[in-house]
Amino acid sequence: MHVVFSPRYRVDIGPHVFPTQKYQLVHDRLLRDRLIDAADVLEPEPAPWEDLALVHTADYLSGLRDGTLSEEAILQLELPWSHEMVEGFRTMVGGTILAARRAVAGETIAAHIGGGLHHAFPNHGEGFCPFNDVAVAIRVLQRDALASRAAVVDLDVHHGNGTAFVFESDPRVFTFSMHQEHNYPMWKPRGSLDIGLADGTGDAAFLEQLEAALPQVMASTPECVFYLAGADPYDQDQLGGLSLTQEGLRQRDRLVIETVRRAGVPLAAVLAGGYARRVEDTVAIHVATIDEARRACEGRV
Ligand SMILES: [Zn+2]
Repeated sequence: MHVVFSPRYRVDIGPHVFPTQKYQLVHDRLLRDRLIDAADVLEPEPAPWEDLALVHTADYLSGLRDGTLSEEAILQLELPWSHEMVEGFRTMVGGTILAARRAVAGETIAAHIGGGLHHAFPNHGEGFCPFNDVAVAIRVLQRDALASRAAVVDLDVHHGNGTAFVFESDPRVFTFSMHQEHNYPMWKPRGSLDIGLADGTGDAAFLEQLEAALPQVMASTPECVFYLAGADPYDQDQLGGLSLTQEGLRQRDRLVIETVRRAGVPLAAVLAGGYARRVEDTVAIHVATIDEARRACEGRV
């Protein structure tokens, strides 16, 4: 299985709840534990601006590129602007596009140690998400006639507001978000299937609802599935309150990956959020996701 990664994802954003070092740490741990080989790792190029323009408005993109976003726009993004920040995230979009291309090119499963920037809208970024990588990747697949129909399985603790908004009127794209209802974002644009969970839901109820929902996702007959395996439903997360354990999160990953694999549909897995008190926990959760994808790819589960 190919794993997409770039050291450019580690961006200096000052003291922040978002640990941008997690991507490098996940990559290093996968290699150290011999879960992947260096030869499995693909390094992406920054997504071309014309690809970003398949989702984002020209005004917003020029503001990001030139550093001319308003103070209000920067506050909403919740990231300090820098050229390095823009290039790091543009590379991350390139990573999700590369993983999607690999998945639909017959590799079945490709994993990205990055991505899942689901709070970005066409004309603004929010919640640490300057670009919506998954939305851009879907538009690239459609433009290049690599896939027309796609599904998004978004299991980050936060609702995938930007992604739902982008595809609101595209019947070819099924957007499924299962998230904590009483959490950011306040405004949750309607996706194809939204399940808002109660605070402290826990493993058993989470997995039960997920198992019941996945057949609806697959019934939309996607040609590619994007899985946002957020680590923030974890019970030690600073921004989440769903109280899942690390074992529960691994079972969640296995359920999604196995369901998609059994249907014979290409899968691109991306990491999304993760703000555990101990960054090692966030890293362990993301490593487990990639490990589950790798096992499924090798037919070991
Ligand atoms: Zn999140």
